[in-house]
Amino acid sequence: MTSSSSAAALPVSPAPPCSWAVPAARSPFCDTGLPRNRFAGRSHGLLGHDHKPPLEILAEARQQLARYPTIRLVNARADSISGAIDDFSVLTGDGESLGARRLILSYGVADQMPDVPGFAEGWGTSIVPCPYCDGFEVAGRHWGLVWSGPQSHNYVRLFHDWTDTLTLFAAGHDIPPDIRADLARRNIPVVDGRIIEIAHHGGHNATVKLDTAPDFAVDILFAHPRNKPSASLHDSLGLATVNTPLGIALKTDERRETSIPGIYAAGDLANPAMASVTTAISQGATAGISAQQSMLV
Ligand SMILES: Cc1cc2nc3c(=O)[nH]c(=O)nc-3n(C[C@H](O)[C@H](O)[C@H](O)COP(=O)(O)OP(=O)(O)OC[C@H]3O[C@@H](n4cnc5c(N)ncnc54)[C@H](O)[C@@H]3O)c2cc1C
Repeated sequence: MTSSSSAAALPVSPAPPCSWAVPAARSPFCDTGLPRNRFAGRSHGLLGHDHKPPLEILAEARQQLARYPTIRLVNARADSISGAIDDFSVLTGDGESLGARRLILSYGVADQMPDVPGFAEGWGTSIVPCPYCDGFEVAGRHWGLVWSGPQSHNYVRLFHDWTDTLTLFAAGHDIPPDIRADLARRNIPVVDGRIIEIAHHGGHNATVKLDTAPDFAVDILFAHPRNKPSASLHDSLGLATVNTPLGIALKTDERRETSIPGIYAAGDLANPAMASVTTAISQGATAGISAQQSMLV
């Protein structure tokens, strides 16, 4: 006699129909493949992917998504959105119409290069925005900061954690006397005048050319140009936005839902304060979970 033959029969639930486990339609994932950090040689601060070229991380992510039959990668621009919760329609640049019950917008922002020769050419190598991304590589060296407004004062305070040698370029701005006094107290020189050109020498080094002062060399230059959303879908939808010192950001609640029910937002498009790949991924996860849980029956 086997033990199984003497065991009491357990009630068996009927297996759920297949459609419960596998959604019939694949969720479309539209992307034109031009991430904001594509100008940088290496990406830093993303656990498991440190010091890799940004486009390599993206290619790896796309490869990993390919094993999920529930996702469809669409290499096209989302051009317009119509409909409402449970019945959205996204028209792509290729003329395809994609249906969705929920939408997550994460088309990022585009940095607006100032009209200074050499700025765009150095963006991502000798001119960078973020010490958390690139500070380690140049810690203890001579940093420059291009003043872009009162928010630049916070960067001065932040940079002390990486270097004691910082030069501030006023770039034609009027820096208020109280901030100048604080900069003097911190032994930070201010170079006045307009920047007319930035020359690069390979690697991080840059020479800042000014209209009223001699050329000035630094080991790396930090700058924060204005930015704008990479697409205008939020505009045509009339989504609520907030003003930031450098542009606008979509307004979301703690579940990452925007002002229109069923539309969520994640990443730099809705995260002006702490732009990074890690925070974009985290917000994307929150948006995805919130969207899915809002459809539970
Ligand atoms: C020079 C530089 C260096 C940086 N270095 C780092 C770093 O080392 N580490 C780090 O964590 N962060 C770094 N960042 C910040 C990082 O790039 C962003 O925080 C991050 O890319 C935000 O991710 P996202 O998904 O919101 O936007 P993005 O990465 O910009 O992705 C948006 C995607 O949407 C696509 N898209 C745009 N419009 C449409 C449309 N209409 N339809 C379909 N697709 C569209 C774009 O092509 C793009 O692929 C850096 C930024 C810059 C500028």
